[in-house]
Amino acid sequence: MIFHPYLHRSITALWLVLLGTTVWCQEKILGSSNPAAEVVANQSNPNKSADANKQPVDFLITHGLIVTMNAPRTIYDDGAVAIKGDSIVAVGPRSEIESQYAAPQTIDATGKLVLPGFVNGHTHVPMTLFRGLHDDVTLDDWLRKYIFPAEAKNVTEEFVRWGTRLAAAEQIRAGVTTFADMYYFEDAVAEETKAAGMRGVLGETFIDFPAPDNKTEAAMLAYTENFLKRWQGDLLIHAAAAPHSIYTCSRKTLEDASGLARKYHAPILIHVAEMKKERDDSEKQNGMSPVQYLEKVGVLGPDVVAAHCIFVDAADSKTLAERRVGCVHNPSSNMMLASGVSPVREMREAGVAVGLGTDGPAGSNNDLDLMEEMDLAAKLAKITHIDPLALNAKAVVEMATIDGARALHLDKEIGSLEPGKKADLILITLDHPNAVPMYDVYAQLAYALKASDVETVVIGGRVVMRDRKLLTVNEAEAIAKAREYKKKIAASLGIQ
Ligand SMILES: [Zn+2]
Repeated sequence: MIFHPYLHRSITALWLVLLGTTVWCQEKILGSSNPAAEVVANQSNPNKSADANKQPVDFLITHGLIVTMNAPRTIYDDGAVAIKGDSIVAVGPRSEIESQYAAPQTIDATGKLVLPGFVNGHTHVPMTLFRGLHDDVTLDDWLRKYIFPAEAKNVTEEFVRWGTRLAAAEQIRAGVTTFADMYYFEDAVAEETKAAGMRGVLGETFIDFPAPDNKTEAAMLAYTENFLKRWQGDLLIHAAAAPHSIYTCSRKTLEDASGLARKYHAPILIHVAEMKKERDDSEKQNGMSPVQYLEKVGVLGPDVVAAHCIFVDAADSKTLAERRVGCVHNPSSNMMLASGVSPVREMREAGVAVGLGTDGPAGSNNDLDLMEEMDLAAKLAKITHIDPLALNAKAVVEMATIDGARALHLDKEIGSLEPGKKADLILITLDHPNAVPMYDVYAQLAYALKASDVETVVIGGRVVMRDRKLLTVNEAEAIAKAREYKKKIAASLGIQ
């Protein structure tokens, strides 16, 4: 039997009217293997006059096993979250929250984990339409021989819109509520992201060759300036500038892109030290590592999100920490392209905020499942150090939530379930075979639970998926379009 407290309260109120007496009611949850669901719920006098003394909110999430990811990492076995507008008003034990807050709607989280939404710190969402186009090659070959030509022939604003819609469906299904993107026509990515109700740090790409949207650096600057101006103050979209990397951008492009971002207090997204060739070329050409070169040209700062950070030594980690650069580790991508292993443990120890990203989703992953990245991040660190303690389950859950928010410089807004933060949260079922038994919630999240266990997703107080049904994206249409694009893209490259 599903216990729904709001319904329960209404029925109890009806009994009060009929019997004219106080009803004490006790219900025991049945049919769930989750110990947290074995709840005995006591409610007395849940009538309207009692509600009148309570603070009104928009909705409550009750009976969940709430993993807050706040500073002391508080977990409530039978907890509740009160949400008003786009923010969290209160989090705590259910009895406390229910005694203080009244809401017209309640989401019953019995038998479910309630967690901050996952933060995908690095990806290129329109590239969903290139998923599987050409795999099993080196990054340099993949970029120069396959993806740059494929992009030149196929990427239009329409392409970007459909790719973003498809990615929104995939990411919401996987519990991702915020993502950082670097691509072209980023204004269209922003419109589609907002339409899907997702939160995004979205960077328009600067690159030293004619891009699908802007053919010259002057055009890139003009487009990006309009883009940054347009989205200033938006509640979901953080517009950013994204100089691609030191190996595709001249010093001038790096300086211009970061200068423009700083003029508008916008974030700067960049690939950093992501392959050996990049590091070796930088040593040869600049006499220093990619991190030290970016420091020298004035790019590094507390507004920078650096993807990958593989070829980073102790001095580089120190610089990244001092400059408060956020780093994003992409284990699937780094393994698939055999790029190397980011020194995540060392960077964390140096005080760098390290988040997690999927990268891709084409050629270097190929999906947008951040839960998989948690699992891989922990295991990759363990095998690299030949030490099972190198990176533990709790650390990777932190990287997918609060540390991911820190890496994007959004930790005042998202990343944990705390009063005042945005109501970005997910409900994960604990009723699937892979979810039981559960001894340690972090280990379950990192190593056992799957994206397909995510049932309900709330972003900025808006329910965007309820019981696996997407509410903001026309998924069937996006899937059909992806199949159409496959035919078109294959034909443009002369492949089947
Ligand atoms: Zn990337």
